[in-house]
Amino acid sequence: MGKITGFMEFERLEEGYQPVELRLKSHKEFVIGLKDDEAKIQSARCMDCGTPFCNSGCPVNNIIPDFNELVFRGDWKNAIDVLHSTNNFPEFTGRICPAPCEAACTLNVNDDAVGIKSIEHAIIDRAWAEGWVAPRVPKAKTGKTVAIVGSGPAGLAAAQQLARVGHDVTVFEKNDRVGGLLRYGIPDFKMEKSHIDRRVEQMRAEGVTFRTGVLVGVIPESTKVTNWATEVITPEQLKAQFDVVLLAGGAELSRDLPVPGRDLEGIHFAMEFLPLQNKVNAGDKVKGQLRADGKHVVVIGGGDTGSDCVGTSNRHGAASVTQFELMPMPPEHEDKPLVWPYWPTKLRTSSSHEEGCDREFAIATKEFIGGEGKAKGKVKAVRTVRVEWRGGKMVEVPGSEQILPADLVLLAMGFTSPVAGMLDAFGIDKDMRGNARAGTDEVAGYATNVPQVFAAGDVRRGQSLVVWAIREGRQAARAIDLHLMGRSDLPR
Ligand SMILES: Cc1cc2nc3c(=O)[nH]c(=O)nc-3n(C[C@H](O)[C@H](O)[C@H](O)COP(=O)(O)OP(=O)(O)OC[C@H]3O[C@@H](n4cnc5c(N)ncnc54)[C@H](O)[C@@H]3O)c2cc1C
Ligand code: SF4
Repeated sequence: MGKITGFMEFERLEEGYQPVELRLKSHKEFVIGLKDDEAKIQSARCMDCGTPFCNSGCPVNNIIPDFNELVFRGDWKNAIDVLHSTNNFPEFTGRICPAPCEAACTLNVNDDAVGIKSIEHAIIDRAWAEGWVAPRVPKAKTGKTVAIVGSGPAGLAAAQQLARVGHDVTVFEKNDRVGGLLRYGIPDFKMEKSHIDRRVEQMRAEGVTFRTGVLVGVIPESTKVTNWATEVITPEQLKAQFDVVLLAGGAELSRDLPVPGRDLEGIHFAMEFLPLQNKVNAGDKVKGQLRADGKHVVVIGGGDTGSDCVGTSNRHGAASVTQFELMPMPPEHEDKPLVWPYWPTKLRTSSSHEEGCDREFAIATKEFIGGEGKAKGKVKAVRTVRVEWRGGKMVEVPGSEQILPADLVLLAMGFTSPVAGMLDAFGIDKDMRGNARAGTDEVAGYATNVPQVFAAGDVRRGQSLVVWAIREGRQAARAIDLHLMGRSDLPR
């Protein structure tokens, strides 16, 4: 441990943000990371508490006390080696992970948690700047071939692990660029896409082949799932060409809100809105981009995807942005003795909320109302009602109906499952929620019911987090390596 009394001497320092007026002018990242000396002081707050709950709170089990110690000693090179030993892409998680590790930090019991995520961010940014992130080319090839369907964090983590032990890996992606929701979904202001491009370059040098614009199986247009494929491959073709197939296609089916007026113009899934802005940021010419300029925007769904719609709408110059959440407002602070070291339910105010947004809790949408005359067929307002939760049941509050103006409605109520057609084309058994059925222990090893086909990430666990996708990709890689070689040196 670097400094025994660090946690008593130093306060937690948050990463800085550019002022709202400035950051709203662009779609670029606005977080100001810790300077090296600030990260060093923050790492000195780690108590080396003996049982590092942070380590098990982190889904990839980052060895947090060790990299804290190394940063405190100024040994950044070894710090990145420790970080990379458990996490292929700390530049993604250091930016967009909600940091369940910090909820589990022992210092969080009665003080502010160690700023683990900001230290992780500082380590990886320094490593890239120093040129320490280099391709790790395998010493020998195995001659085995693996196809990975989907280039999100699960597919990328698996591809990198498998290529590094000498397998020939090809990643198939239906969209025109690699990255999954990291690329098309998560706004650039949370994570610029150059971070993905750098990794793709590294992975190409490690021997991974990327084939974008290729759909494997079927995705019906009616699902409104992003699909920019120009080529289709059948599951049979893929299975014939490769020794193993890993499905890492995410859980892309958006939850709908089938209330009267749903078919009016101006009502869209969040995932019809956000990817187009990512494309524009990438310099693409986008015909008919959904824009919020001058509009009254209503975002339905109080989670992170909704918050991303808020941030993007404000950058477009919306007249007003309102976000609805069906559940009541959670408490501002958690009851720590009750919930630590688990992820607590509490009011979370994102940087996008701070940029301007009315948040309405315990509110349900009854109807979308269309305009008249020229505005006929277009959404103009939403009719809402207040709700209460009694005995786990939602009850409408009589006399609480309201009509709110809305020219653009964005549905961000989560995702139900992967697209069934894709799994059905492979003949994959599904669980009760429609996800690919595959166990994760050493025996089940991410294998589906179909021989030589594995599944990992959101396609298996349902819509989740980037860090969980990385974990599943890494673990599935080990399971596949074991399947192909009968043994594996890849970590569990
Ligand atoms: C708007 C939004 C914001 C989010 N913000 C955060 C955040 O801040 N932090 C966080 O931790 N998590 C966040 N998440 C969740 C996170 O992005 C996902 O949990 C994670 O990306 C899942 O990774 P994955 O690799 O399993 O799948 P995905 O990232 O969904 O990638 C799957 C890829 O597979 C491709 N694909 C699917 N089917 C086929 C097919 N048949 N053929 C070819 N390609 C196919 C898809 O096009 C896609 O590119 C967010 C999600 C959304 C929607
Ligand atoms: S990946 Fe997420 S949970 Fe793990 S140490 Fe980093 S911020 Fe914490």
